[in-house]
Amino acid sequence: MSETYNPYTNVIHTMTRAMELGHIDQSMFEILKNPQRETKVYLPVEMDDGTIKVFEGYRVQHSNIRGPFKGGIRYHQDTDLDEVKALATWMTLKCAVADIPYGGAKGGIKVDPHTLSTRELRALTRRYTFAIAPIIGTDTDIPAPDVNTSPQTMAWLLDTYSQLNGHPCPGVVTGKPIELGGSRGRNSATGRGVVISTRLLLSQNDKELAGTTVAIQGMGNVGANAARIFYHRGVKVLAVSDVSGGLYCPDGIDIDALSVYLEKEGALLKDYSAPGITHISNEEILTCNCDVLVPAALENQITAENAGKLNCTYIVEAANGPTTEEADAILEKRGITLIPDIFANSGGVIVSYFEWVQNIQELTWDRDQVNEMLEKLMSRSFQSLLDTAAECHCSFRMAAYIVALRKLVTAEKMKGIFP
Ligand code: NAD
Repeated sequence: MSETYNPYTNVIHTMTRAMELGHIDQSMFEILKNPQRETKVYLPVEMDDGTIKVFEGYRVQHSNIRGPFKGGIRYHQDTDLDEVKALATWMTLKCAVADIPYGGAKGGIKVDPHTLSTRELRALTRRYTFAIAPIIGTDTDIPAPDVNTSPQTMAWLLDTYSQLNGHPCPGVVTGKPIELGGSRGRNSATGRGVVISTRLLLSQNDKELAGTTVAIQGMGNVGANAARIFYHRGVKVLAVSDVSGGLYCPDGIDIDALSVYLEKEGALLKDYSAPGITHISNEEILTCNCDVLVPAALENQITAENAGKLNCTYIVEAANGPTTEEADAILEKRGITLIPDIFANSGGVIVSYFEWVQNIQELTWDRDQVNEMLEKLMSRSFQSLLDTAAECHCSFRMAAYIVALRKLVTAEKMKGIFP
């Protein structure tokens, strides 16, 4: 994280503004400003060359007022406790906006996983799971994938936890492979939710997906799935990027061809070539001329420095926390409408919830059922954003925070303070 940007400060400030704007009773707010539990673990791993390395890991459990803690696990060299605290808080808010019976949590390990072999990654994941096993579980805290973790990572986590408990525990983790109890539709759910959010937003302005132009920063699980679904709905994907740089094509990128290329282990966009495609920088992708900009990488991408230079009409936040507070104010002044992360990327946790429901009921749903339910839940929560934005004369970000905080404060008050 940069020295001046702190995502946790960012989320607390935004919550504070929403509490005022939504006229929400402040008496319980102190509780929501702090996570219920922060766990820091040190993880020794025997590396392939025989040396021992110790990695730092975290699990932050922000709130379980509305249900078990829920949230992904991130592997990244820059992750730290404040980032994980912010991500955990966003999970609490996101689950409340989606109206699913979960609280919020997040985990992380400070590591660049691209520098580890598969055996080392497996050992690290198993050791991390062992370290947090006492505080996770089907009814307590349910991890899932996030940046640089995948269904394979979840399979190792599931196996380690199940070995420790002496029986299969599929409900302890979501985003696992279908062969191990994962849900159909989960892998693409966050990207699908981003497309649903975009469609709902456009329909408010009497526009439709077909013919719309988009630029997507980040071509991982979320960005690549969103790109594929957009492409098949007739959206022109003008530009995409990953950590190595971006691609631009004025006629729209052939996402099917690009997806085949990206399936190769370690494939980077800087090495991709196809007719009509030029290479651009990650800064250029943010400022490229398009209808919808979709940041789908990391936090702190749309800042006070570049918010004035964006050339889009709408922003749909697929990543968590891609826009700083200062940038938000600039975008609002410029009339750029933004759909906030805690709604736009909620497709992932919604289908994680469906996966968990299938696991605890020991049944399976088909893909159409999953996708239909996802549409239904997101359409319902989008309506609550529209109603609240109209009631409080505020942005969609403020509306989403107000919707979430009202539910959380009501739940806190009903429960009361223990003891
Ligand atoms: P991922 O690891 O699959 O992909 C991340 C992508 O971002 C990669 O293409 C990577 O190259 C790119 N990237 C990394 N640093 C970058 C940079 N500085 N500039 C441009 N691109 C960069 O991760 P993901 O699961 O797709 O998650 C992306 C975002 O979506 C994160 O903010 C995550 O918290 C959020 N999110 C993910 C899920 C999920 O289900 N995976 C759910 C909700 C939200």
